[in-house]
Amino acid sequence: MRQVAIYGKGGIGKSTTTQNLTAGLAEMGKKIMVVGCDPKADSTRLLLGGLAQKTVLDTLRDEGEDIELDAILKPGYGDIRCVESGGPEPGVGCAGRGIITSINMLENLGAYEADTKEEELDYVFYDVLGDVVCGGFAMPIREGKAQEIYIVASGEMMALYAANNIAKGIQKYANTGGVRLGGIICNSRKVDNERELLEAFAKELGSQLIHFVPRDNQVQKAEIHKQTVIEFSPEEAQADEYRTLAKAIDNNKLFVIPKPMAQDRLEEILMEFGLMDI
Ligand code: ADP
Ligand code: MG
Repeated sequence: MRQVAIYGKGGIGKSTTTQNLTAGLAEMGKKIMVVGCDPKADSTRLLLGGLAQKTVLDTLRDEGEDIELDAILKPGYGDIRCVESGGPEPGVGCAGRGIITSINMLENLGAYEADTKEEELDYVFYDVLGDVVCGGFAMPIREGKAQEIYIVASGEMMALYAANNIAKGIQKYANTGGVRLGGIICNSRKVDNERELLEAFAKELGSQLIHFVPRDNQVQKAEIHKQTVIEFSPEEAQADEYRTLAKAIDNNKLFVIPKPMAQDRLEEILMEFGLMDI
């Protein structure tokens, strides 16, 4: 079982990418669980057809500790097991701790286990809000739950700034634990020379650009229908992009302790590609 965490700046496309790529893996016959680790609790909406999933923390608050697994875990597209950790009441408590409470609850209720060999999970994906890795949101890495990280970024400066900060967090925990960076996923914002910029950025970290996902309105069309592109329009080119990403992750062999860069170096790289061809 591979445990994978997807990090990246808020709004960059973590949940969209995670759901589409896990739908791609499900098409390949993989058994998957997706655990939303964002207080927004919208990490599994497209897999569940918009079904409002009650979060683990809300369920614990309302029903106490004595709950059944099916109260917090719903099967979605391709039989993907969908969970939303949820968050504390706004302004109260640590959201990161909530994530660990949820994961521990899932473990206690046997969500990671299977009765038969065929039902065994191939992957668990954690979709994690990652603007600040030093806080509670580093929990899935810190507690050794996820061993493999992908960072979603684009050519926009703030996305790369956040990605570099996340790399700093990964480096810190990688030195003492087993967590590794598997690659950077570019979710394109149609910035000039974006692919080249992201390739250079990933290389500087000692990692790779694992896939360049184009920006495509098909994502919005599918989203309005509360579906992934893979489910809503499997014949569209964008669906193939997510399938390619799924395969690249499935075949990935490059796992590194990232080498985050100093602010000056990041700005230098941004300048080099931003000013190209002008
Ligand atoms: P995050 O989980 O990182 O906060 P989301 O996955 O919710 O971000 O993405 C924010 C919005 O960006 C989504 O509502 C979706 O419509 C849009 N989006 C994400 N990826 C793409 C893409 N490749 N092409 C077009 N729109 C996208
Ligand atoms: Mg999200």
